[in-house]
Amino acid sequence: MILNTDVLIIGAGITGLNFALNLRADLDVIILSKNSLQECNSYLAQGGISVLRNEEDYEAYINDTLAAGGFKNRRQAVEILVRESRAAIKRLEELKVPFNRDKNGELIYTREGAHSINRIVHCDDNTGEQLHKVFEKKVSEKVNIKLIENCFFADLLTSKNRCIGALAINEGKELNIIAKATIIATGGIGGLFKNSTNFHSISGDGIAIAIKNNIDVENLNYIQFHPTSFYEDIKDKRRLLISEAVRGEGGRLINKDGSRFVNELLPRDKVTEAIIKEELKSKSNYVYLDLSFLEKDFISKRFPNIYRNCLERGVDITKEPIPVTPAQHYFMGGIKVDMYCRTSMENLYAAGEVSSTGLHGANRLASNSLLESLVFSNRAVEHINRTISPYSVIYKDLIKRLKGDTDYYSNSLSIILQQEIKKVRGDIINELVAL
Ligand SMILES: Cc1cc2nc3c(=O)[nH]c(=O)nc-3n(C[C@H](O)[C@H](O)[C@H](O)COP(=O)(O)OP(=O)(O)OC[C@H]3O[C@@H](n4cnc5c(N)ncnc54)[C@H](O)[C@@H]3O)c2cc1C
Repeated sequence: MILNTDVLIIGAGITGLNFALNLRADLDVIILSKNSLQECNSYLAQGGISVLRNEEDYEAYINDTLAAGGFKNRRQAVEILVRESRAAIKRLEELKVPFNRDKNGELIYTREGAHSINRIVHCDDNTGEQLHKVFEKKVSEKVNIKLIENCFFADLLTSKNRCIGALAINEGKELNIIAKATIIATGGIGGLFKNSTNFHSISGDGIAIAIKNNIDVENLNYIQFHPTSFYEDIKDKRRLLISEAVRGEGGRLINKDGSRFVNELLPRDKVTEAIIKEELKSKSNYVYLDLSFLEKDFISKRFPNIYRNCLERGVDITKEPIPVTPAQHYFMGGIKVDMYCRTSMENLYAAGEVSSTGLHGANRLASNSLLESLVFSNRAVEHINRTISPYSVIYKDLIKRLKGDTDYYSNSLSIILQQEIKKVRGDIINELVAL
């Protein structure tokens, strides 16, 4: 089957939906999602979205991002992110995203590890879900946007170094989707790991397809392991994240003897390293995160979802410490893009976690990811709105290449990416978290 569209967006997380919402209304848009619309990491985001507080915060915010990233960041991307953050949040306020506010209606800013001040806006402790729901509703109201769920992106359609759409499998049938502009927004790589906070289905397909098509990728060794996922003796199940905001609000990391062993507000890679050392020293699979000394009411109101999810797992966080251990969480590397999300292939863009703007360096500062998705997809959208060709793509060379077997293609893409990552990374964390 052949579909024709102006813009094809592969991925329906915050990045993909934000793209679709801001494209010109006269452009036909198709969005693909691998499984259900809600099965994306955007939906899981807890802590919030960082934003520049005021002009005095400009250098501090840049420095926090650079320091967390081990100064391996692309400075231009950091400056763009910080400078354009307020406009991105303003747009969300206009869409009526229900951010937490004080009695005067002003935004409440919280803090997370490695931020020098409180600069994170949030919707309780399920910011991603609430944001995604607002976007879903807005997308459903737009007549120019067609959303196809349970549709597996298997390859790109290309002509020399030009992208002209994608091959996908929907309900066992092959789809050739021809597009003037194609955006890969397929998210991170957590599905490749045994221990990850990501949905298992988010497994780096977009990056593997880029590698297969000789599109530039970079920093495949920049993998972030979140220090605090809930420890459970289970296999092949998504790890419950205990947000960094818990430490931001005063939560303490302690070992089995009840002693603190690290500054909880150091960047994620440093805290992860300290926990792994502590686990090895004490021959334990976990340490504890304690916030039970805080007011019970504050805990259940500030972290209602974490409270409920831990209670379901038998831990009352208002009374006892939480067993935690590091898990794969985020991918800083990916498809190399410029400041308008353009890849090395013509008419092909990549945005969100799948892309590498170079912003995060070797380690992402907390709550900079949703912001990156918004700021850089806004820039790419403006570029597409301005430059998209008025002429349809003519492509006669359609070949039936795919079997309707999603698992087969999914597994082969995972193998391509795992092999590439293993070439550049093979450290102790990888062994513990298991690739
Ligand atoms: C538990 C958790 C908490 C987090 N908390 C925060 C936070 O508080 N603040 C913050 O800034 N960041 C946070 N993050 C990171 C952030 O949520 C993600 O980096 C961000 O949402 C990624 O958005 P995305 O749109 O790029 O990808 P995703 O939201 O993961 O969306 C990927 C989309 O691609 C689709 N897709 C993938 N492969 C295919 C394929 N082969 N075919 C078709 N479609 C495909 C999926 O179906 C999905 O729709 C958190 C992440 C996790 C896991």
